[in-house]
Amino acid sequence: MRSEFLPFAQPSISEEDVAAVADTLRSGWITTGAKCAELEDAFRNRLGCHHAVAVTSGTAAMHLALYASGIGPGDEVITPSMTWVSTPNLITMAGATPVFVDVDPETLMVSPDAVAAAVTDRTRAVIPVDFAGAAVDMAPLRSVAADQGVALVEDAAHAIGTIRQGGEEVGSMGTAIFSLHPIKTITSGEGGVLVTDDSEFGSRIKRLRFHGLGVDAWSRGQQGRSPQAEVLEPGFKYNLPDMNAVLGLRQFARLDEFIAQRTSLANRYRELLAEVPGIEPLGDAAATQRHSWHLFIVRVAREDMDRESFMNALKQRNIGSGVHFRPTHTQAWYAENSGRWRAHGSLENTERVGQQICSLPLFPGMTELDVDEVVAAVCDTVAEVAS
Ligand SMILES: *Cc1c(COP(=O)(O)O)cnc(C)c1O
Repeated sequence: MRSEFLPFAQPSISEEDVAAVADTLRSGWITTGAKCAELEDAFRNRLGCHHAVAVTSGTAAMHLALYASGIGPGDEVITPSMTWVSTPNLITMAGATPVFVDVDPETLMVSPDAVAAAVTDRTRAVIPVDFAGAAVDMAPLRSVAADQGVALVEDAAHAIGTIRQGGEEVGSMGTAIFSLHPIKTITSGEGGVLVTDDSEFGSRIKRLRFHGLGVDAWSRGQQGRSPQAEVLEPGFKYNLPDMNAVLGLRQFARLDEFIAQRTSLANRYRELLAEVPGIEPLGDAAATQRHSWHLFIVRVAREDMDRESFMNALKQRNIGSGVHFRPTHTQAWYAENSGRWRAHGSLENTERVGQQICSLPLFPGMTELDVDEVVAAVCDTVAEVAS
């Protein structure tokens, strides 16, 4: 058995990252400024999008997207229940109704047909998720959104660096949000980025991020002017400080290196787990050319063992694991307030797979030996319950 606990995720922070943050702390400017602008430029240059707006979290980025899309009372927003709770929470808190659609049990992603079928005359937005680092099938979703005249915001929190079939990198078209939370593929401590190819929408998001002022504190300070900016419309306080942005910038430069490491670990898992009955990795998503392997998810599909016993047995063997995600509609508030959301059709895949999924350890600092030890612990666990 492993002597040290292996967490399911861990940020990969180098000494150079630490030094870069320390430099910013000593620089005299620690809130939003030049480093934040550099981070935004790095996203724009890589993705070729009009705007990249760095904010304090992926949730803040999604909040701005929903607000700027005018989502409010009486509106419906289509999204999977199999997502992080931040999205349904934001929809609900805007006074709108989340409309949950079921997911494919192989990929945990919505199908364009299911989304199209859920559209009503109240639908104002669709929020699909690129699950685990795979790419959701966006082309037909773009047609649905365009035909129906509704907003489409891609939740790409898991998918920085993911490439679609045909070579389009996630975030280079349309509007998407990324998360820079420490468990995600790259981190700024906490943080998020909204990217969009809609220039007007992007400018508005930029000012909504900072009180709805025309300029931010950095631009004012840099010009050596007194703060004369005015409120163009009431806004939020979601700007990303430079002490976070500088870490995000350093991490962004290592994105392809991180993905290469994640991919080789994931391939080893897939090879070894092919021999283990009833512990099933997710299937391939057809729209994905390059998976970024944010998570390595298996389904515990065995009659003799439930997911909780599986996770406990791994924990006893010093292996961490996680659940991404417990379906939103089964969580306390949503279960008690069934009038505040709607399901389109049955959510049977979501409910079944929601009880099976388990994320195994996957992060760039892991070794092949770590993967072998996880799989050995999985095999032990399965052998133990089967005996
Ligand atoms: C992490 C995550 C978010 C929110 O990101 P934060 O930076 O934690 O606010 C949104 N959606 C999904 C699918 C996520 O995994």
